[in-house]
Amino acid sequence: MADEAAGFSLELGDDLRQVRQWVHEFARDVVRPAAEEWDEREETPWPIIQEASKIGLYSLDFFAEQWLEPNGLGIPVAFEELFWGDAGIALSIVGTGLAAASVAATGLPEQVAEWVPQMFGTPDDIRLGAFCASEPDAGSDIGSIRTRATYDEARDEWVLNGTKTWATNGGIADVHVVVASVHPDLGARGQAGFIIPQHTAGLSQGQKFKKHGIRASHTAEVILDDVRIPGRLLVGGKEKFDERIARVREGKRGGGQAALKTFETTRPTVGAMALGVARAAYDYALAYAREREQFGKKIGDFQAIAFKLADMKTQIDAARLLVWRAAWMARQGMDFDNAEGSMAKLYAGETAVRVTEEAIQILGGNGYTREFPVERMHRDAKIFTIFEGTSEIQRLVIGRTITGLPVR
Ligand SMILES: Cc1cc2nc3c(=O)[nH]c(=O)nc-3n(C[C@H](O)[C@H](O)[C@H](O)COP(=O)(O)OP(=O)(O)OC[C@H]3O[C@@H](n4cnc5c(N)ncnc54)[C@H](O)[C@@H]3O)c2cc1C
Repeated sequence: MADEAAGFSLELGDDLRQVRQWVHEFARDVVRPAAEEWDEREETPWPIIQEASKIGLYSLDFFAEQWLEPNGLGIPVAFEELFWGDAGIALSIVGTGLAAASVAATGLPEQVAEWVPQMFGTPDDIRLGAFCASEPDAGSDIGSIRTRATYDEARDEWVLNGTKTWATNGGIADVHVVVASVHPDLGARGQAGFIIPQHTAGLSQGQKFKKHGIRASHTAEVILDDVRIPGRLLVGGKEKFDERIARVREGKRGGGQAALKTFETTRPTVGAMALGVARAAYDYALAYAREREQFGKKIGDFQAIAFKLADMKTQIDAARLLVWRAAWMARQGMDFDNAEGSMAKLYAGETAVRVTEEAIQILGGNGYTREFPVERMHRDAKIFTIFEGTSEIQRLVIGRTITGLPVR
């Protein structure tokens, strides 16, 4: 019996516990004190990103080390702590990760080596990456992307035209990874990712959005007007892409699907971000319920409040288990046969919204003001049911996966 149990443990090893503590201290001492200011300013918090860079937290080394953590828990553990500090600032710090992950997941080794470091820069020269898939008419329906990439054989260049929207770090990034359609008749299977280097003519920022939450994170349109890039900047290489297209045209299964592949690897990590926000609101509400008195008692003494806290804590822990399971499976190279990545993101995202709302309720009138942080956390939490696949899309993916039916 003991032998059978030996292979399973939910205890984090020493290295991970140290990472968690290190990120937690940065979140507590640097991120959280700055949260209100940057939420109000609605600007990228460059000084905080620089602080993160100085200590090595905003760096390729840190991200790579955590991605490669043998149990797959490096990124979820680090992101939960960082987002516990503040979601808007944390997204400014990890936003580059989505672009980096898209190149790391499907890029050629030489593309990863050349471009991923350029997305992070150095403490004296901070760089950012942006991943641009969504378009005004292609959000959930990512297969209907209209941005076109055409190959100019004479010059061995790709020419990109279109409008991207909702891009985190869009227009201010140094490296943009843009998903474009090369073979529009093939839908998502005819798409590829393209690396657009800094200062490439024809790429510009469109509208910058004023948002409900995560306001320290820059979200904008990216306009591509006859953007020309070298042929070698198709993520994964033209040769492999052409082979894949040939397989698709022959009616065989073609892997790839640039945007979907990126989202698959990142969904559990987005669940971890949501978890951080939920835990922050829970921590705050718990401390408040132990202090605040009404009717001569701590409000935590009222079953109505204690039961809320019980539900909040239970849901947070359940979300963490789903996130860790999916992250572990992904690291072991296991397929998400039951859409475990989507389950984790769905449940953690909805937990963040519920828990932050209950936190406001526990704080009463105070919770509804900007004097107390749970109001901001509630606004921040809502993004987790929208980006990286809405809750409806996650349910669609789970529903299709478990039934094997083309659920609509
Ligand atoms: C702050 C922010 C940052 C973002 N960052 C990025 C980024 O860095 N890069 C990037 O590429 N994108 C980014 N996005 C875009 C994000 O991924 C999309 O907003 C999201 O995928 C939803 O697309 P949409 O907004 O067009 O909504 P729509 O697809 O128009 O959906 C509207 C509603 O219809 C529902 N719906 C749609 N289709 C179905 C269906 N088949 N069945 C049931 N319900 C359906 C949706 O669930 C939703 O409730 C970001 C968005 C925001 C708000």
